[in-house]
This record gives sequence, C-alpha cells and structure tokens, in this order.
Amino acid sequence: MSSGHIVIPRTALPAHSVYYPRMLNKQDLQKCIHCGLCLQACPTYIATGQEAESPRGRIYLMRQAYEGRIEWAQARPHIDACMGCLGCQTACPSGVPYAKLIEAARAEIETHARSPISRFVRRHAIKNFTTPHRLRLLLRIARATGMRRAPRWMAKLLGAAESAVQLPALPPKTWRPTQNTFPAQGTPKARVGLLLGCAMQALFDRVHRATIGMLTLAGYEVHIPRNQGCCGALWVHNGYPREAQGNARRLFQAFREVDYIVVNAAGCGSTMKEYGMLFQGTPEQAVAEAFAQRVRDVHELLYEADLPAPKRADSLCVTYHDACHLVHGQGIRQQPRALLQRLPNLKLVEMDGSDMCCGSAGIYNLLQPKLARDALQRKIQNIRNTGATLVASANPGCTLWIRQGLQEANLPVEVLHPVEILAKAYEVMP
Ligand code: SF4
Ligand code: SF4
Repeated sequence: MSSGHIVIPRTALPAHSVYYPRMLNKQDLQKCIHCGLCLQACPTYIATGQEAESPRGRIYLMRQAYEGRIEWAQARPHIDACMGCLGCQTACPSGVPYAKLIEAARAEIETHARSPISRFVRRHAIKNFTTPHRLRLLLRIARATGMRRAPRWMAKLLGAAESAVQLPALPPKTWRPTQNTFPAQGTPKARVGLLLGCAMQALFDRVHRATIGMLTLAGYEVHIPRNQGCCGALWVHNGYPREAQGNARRLFQAFREVDYIVVNAAGCGSTMKEYGMLFQGTPEQAVAEAFAQRVRDVHELLYEADLPAPKRADSLCVTYHDACHLVHGQGIRQQPRALLQRLPNLKLVEMDGSDMCCGSAGIYNLLQPKLARDALQRKIQNIRNTGATLVASANPGCTLWIRQGLQEANLPVEVLHPVEILAKAYEVMP
C-alpha cells in the first residue's frame, strides 16, 4: 500500500456546524475586470445575447446585491438561469472564482429571496433525487402509472413553465456489490474507496462494475464503505451549503480508512475536491481539506496506471463530451481521451464545443427547460456532425440528457461512460 490508512478521530467532527460557509466577499467580486472574455464560453449568453445572462452580468448583479443597491430578488431570475457549468471560470484570465461566487449567491437567494413554500418544494425535490431508494421508488411508481416524462405539476411546483425531462429507465434490479472489498490484481498499489453516489447507484450500476473491474486491473484494492450517502453536490449547487456539510461529514467517516476516494461522476468529484471551501473558516476546515486531497476521479488513477494491452479491438467511432464538472471543475480534459485512444481500432472524433454544457446541469433541465433544451440541441447537432456512433460521457445527468436528445433527434448513437468502454475492451466487467 502507498501509505498508512488515514483515521479521522470522531472528536474532530462536531455533529452540527453553526457556520454559514462560502459567504460572498468583496475581494472575490472585485476580481472581475469586466473584460468580457468569458462571454462566448457561456451557454446562456450565447442563447439569449443578454448581458444579464452572461457571467459578467451575473457578477455585476451579485455585487449590486452584496452592496445593498438592489434586492436579491431582482438578481434571482438571472442567477437561477445560470447553468453553473463553469465554462466562464476556465475562460477568465483574471482568476474570478465563479464556482464560489455562484454557490454563495444561490445560498443568499435561498435565504433571502425565495418563499418558504418554494424552499420547501426545492428541498424535498433535492432530498428525493439524492436518496437512491426514494429515487428508484419514484421512478417505479411513475413507470407503473405510464408516466414517461417528469410531470408538469412537478415542473410548476419547482417554478418551471414546462416539463422537458424524460424519466429514465431503471435497471431491472437494484445492484448491490457482492462483497465489500475487491482485491487488486497483483501486488496492491493502494486501497481505494468507491463513492456509490445517488443517481449513479440507482441508475448506473454498470459504471460502478466497470470502475471496479478497471481499478482492480490497474492494481488497486477497491473497498465499498457502507453508510456513504450523498456527496452534497446537488445541495451546494442549489444554495444549501449546510445540508452539503452534513453529507460531507458522513463521507469523512465512511472513507476514513482508504488511501484515495474514487469518484466516477464528474459533479460529485468536483464538489468533494472543494470540501475545503465548503468548510472554510470553520473548525472542520483542516479535516475537509485533508479529505479533499485524497479524492481522485477514476480517469486520473487509470491514466497513471500501467495497464496491460486490451483484450478486444472492436472497431468504434467515438466522440467525447466533456462533462462541465470534470473539465472546468477539475481540469480533467486529456486523461479520458488518452485512455480511450489506447484502445486499438477506436477512432476518437472531436466535436465542436465538446466542453460546452449540454444543459443537464444537475436539476437545471427540470428548473429551466427552455435554456436547457437550447444547449441540448446545440450539443446534439455537434454530435451529429462528427458521424460518431458512440458518445463517451462521464456524468450521469449529461448521459441521460444527451440520450434523450439523441432519441428525440432519431440519431442511433449510444452514450456510455468512458470506463464502460474501457472495461469492455479489457474484459473486466465483474
Ligand atoms: S457558469 Fe456557465 S452558464 Fe453560468 S455564467 Fe458561467 S458560463 Fe454562463
Ligand atoms: S469573469 Fe473574468 S473573463 Fe468574465 S468579464 Fe470578469 S474578468 Fe473578464
């Protein structure tokens, strides 16, 4: 093993935090020099052409509200319309920490500019989406009653004008790992813990099985801790940092005895790598930072590994969609592409705007169907232009939304996680 296991004493983790993390601050807001270099990286600006729907416009509104010149309610429609894709953060030459700003602004809005009934509905929606057994139950009921689309009343309750999201099909059975530990092939390099997540656990068990197969092949012993729960990404992205802190604390305990925490969903990994910020200025900051340093996206570990030659050489034409929270949130652009290109007979065709948001963005496609559809249509056209028959996508929300777009466009193109494509080629699906 690479190091001794890390044990976090329970005493280091208070049950409740009285701290309100990630407050907006003047220094961060002042980093924007209004240059506009982020505008063409912003899907909502491209769709509307309006300054208030651009990163620069939103930062201006945040500053106005922060300084008390306008009410948060005035900024709310524009903050709500942000996909949180972080394309602007990558494009910005001034180092504006947009992820921090938008999450802090959303927390302000939930606290000061949302009605109690709206908060209640949104909290319950997030709670249901982030609890795998509830999510499965809701999808089962929907299927049993012939529902194929998220109901209009639900969209209305969430504040949207229409419902655009098709309900995903459930795998036939709930996947439960057959064992808690999967041994490495050969001498183990390290012991890693796999995050099961919410949507990933309910809908994408194949990706977990592929991840276990590839990691054990790469020499990692894979542990699946019990009592993991949600990572808090949906909570923090929608303005509920305290709830996200509660989720994070549970993970601190669950993963205390592994060298790395491995994540195969872009949004979860990005949030977990930022736990230090989530607990900034609290007594738990050091614990959160130490945890965040052990988080790895699965592509990072596989890219560094000395993998054997793949067993299959299927002829594939693949295009890669950069999930926002992988490319803009974690700076992971090259590793998944390089891993796919190790497969003989796999042709990787780049699409235009591969790192532009598809509009899924957590529950954005439920909340903002019009702008989400606009982004999806551009993504589907770019996929069509490549001629690829397979899209590689490393985030569950993107995968479901792009599948829906392809189906509606009658394009016979499959969408898989890169690790699923690898596991098939290496014949390691457990
Ligand atoms: S996060 Fe995305 S949608 Fe929001 S302002 Fe930045 S680029 Fe635009
Ligand atoms: S966010 Fe960055 S790129 Fe955009 S206007 Fe401000 S300084 Fe320029």
